[in-house]
This record gives sequence, structure tokens and C-alpha cells, in this order.
Amino acid sequence: MKTPLITGLLLSVAFLFLTGCNHLQNDSDPDLSVFPQTEQGTEEKPSDDTSLPPADNIKEEENRSSLAEGEKDDSNSTQPEDSAVEADTDPESMAVIVNKEYSLPENYEPDDLVYPDVPFTFDEMIDKRMMRKEAGEALEKLFAAAAEDGVTLLGVSAYRSYDTQEQLYNNYVKRDGEEAAQTYSAFPGHSEHQTGLAIDVTGGDRICVVEDCFAGTEEAKWLEENAAEFGFIIRYLEGKELITGYKYEPWHIRYVGKEMAEAITALGVTLEEYYNVVPVSN
Ligand SMILES: [Zn+2]
Repeated sequence: MKTPLITGLLLSVAFLFLTGCNHLQNDSDPDLSVFPQTEQGTEEKPSDDTSLPPADNIKEEENRSSLAEGEKDDSNSTQPEDSAVEADTDPESMAVIVNKEYSLPENYEPDDLVYPDVPFTFDEMIDKRMMRKEAGEALEKLFAAAAEDGVTLLGVSAYRSYDTQEQLYNNYVKRDGEEAAQTYSAFPGHSEHQTGLAIDVTGGDRICVVEDCFAGTEEAKWLEENAAEFGFIIRYLEGKELITGYKYEPWHIRYVGKEMAEAITALGVTLEEYYNVVPVSN
């Protein structure tokens, strides 16, 4: 007598459950489809920092939800802005775009490199401690403001010449082969560190130096909230990997000037989206 009723109930529950699941899937799938299919297949995620085994699988779900939010916002808010801002490809400009598509000239070397007066994870006065004057001065202010808020930052790696990047890249190719090297190291001329406007930073505890675990730290949060005020942007945002061509790098900050940094941060977009030069071809 009761069996049909129970079966009916079970079917209803199963139906509701399945409907719920489909609903969830429908929410995320369209957002992923905005990216070209070919790029999802190749999954190239070079990093210009060091050899970092990506912990992508851990963050995949997180990234998807970020993508979902980011894409919805972008389509509504950035389009008019995008068409008004032309991509700056002048190597001397504070607003220059350098990525997998836009490179710097091989012989480009900034002529105003200085040693910013901030602590680094090393003591030597070497190239990777240098930045262009304007960016270096802004960095000093940023570090000082962080310190006032009780947040200790350390520089890890700033300027990197074309030759240094080439040596690094070639060493990686020798060690791992070209295909693998491309997944974690920038091709010479394509590293933003060559501009003298980018720097990798870390926390005073030196626990997550240029590693995924820097995400979510007190220092990473402080940068997210305050970097723009000093003219810096978090260059490689979470959930924008297929747009920037790089995995999420909360430690890599890029000077673009205060006005532009605040505009980009307020929009929640990448430099590529700001200039409307997406997607980056891998
Ligand atoms: Zn970097």
C-alpha cells in the first residue's frame, strides 16, 4: 500500500535534486565559454617569476566562481571605457603593456633605474633590486604605509634585464625542454620585469615567497586593498588566467601610476581588459 507513495516521494526528491544540480551547472558553464576553446585545451600558464608548479586543481572551483563574477561585471561596465583607451606600447611609458603578445625591444633597458629604499629578502645591491625612479619612489611610500598598518613587506625581485631573462629561460629549456619551460617562464622580451615597473613582494615571515600560499595572507590582502593608492595594480588576477596568460600571482605588483591604477582596480579588470586587447594568444 505504502510502496507507491514512498517511490513517488523518492522520485520527487531525485527530480528536485537533479534540477538543482543542473541549475548550478548552468550558472557556471556560460561563463567559461566566453574564452576561446583552443586556449582551454593547451592550458599554457607560464610564469615569469620562478619555477612554480601550479596548484591549479586546488583552486579550480574558486577560479570558476571568480570568472563568473568577473565576466558578468566586465560585460556591463568596461566596454565603453575599453574603447576609449588605446593600448600603450611605448616601452618608456609607465602605462606600457607587456605580455605574451606585446614584447619589449631586445635592447630596451630603462635609463632611470634606482635602488628603492625598501627591505628585500636579500642584501646584495644587484639588478633585481632596481626599479624605475617613479615606480621606486611609489614603492617606498607603499612599503611605509603598509608598515604603518603593521604589515611588513619585503621585495623579492624587481628589474630583470632581457639578457637575464634569456639566461633564465634557456636554463629552464635545457632542464625541462621548451614546451615545459614555456609553462612557467616568460620568453625573453615578454617579461614585465624588464620594464623596471614590476616587482614581486612577500611578507616579513618569508613563508610564502612567490608561492601560491601567499594568496590570502595579511600582506596579500593589504596589497589588494591599498596598492592602487600608490599607483600599483595586482597584475595577474585570480580567475583571469586565460586573459593575462599567467596564473594568479598575488605577489606580482605593477606600477602604472595612481590614476590608472585606481581606475583599473575600481573596475576589477586586468591591464589587457582595460586596453581591450584580449584574449592574449598563447
Ligand atoms: Zn613577477
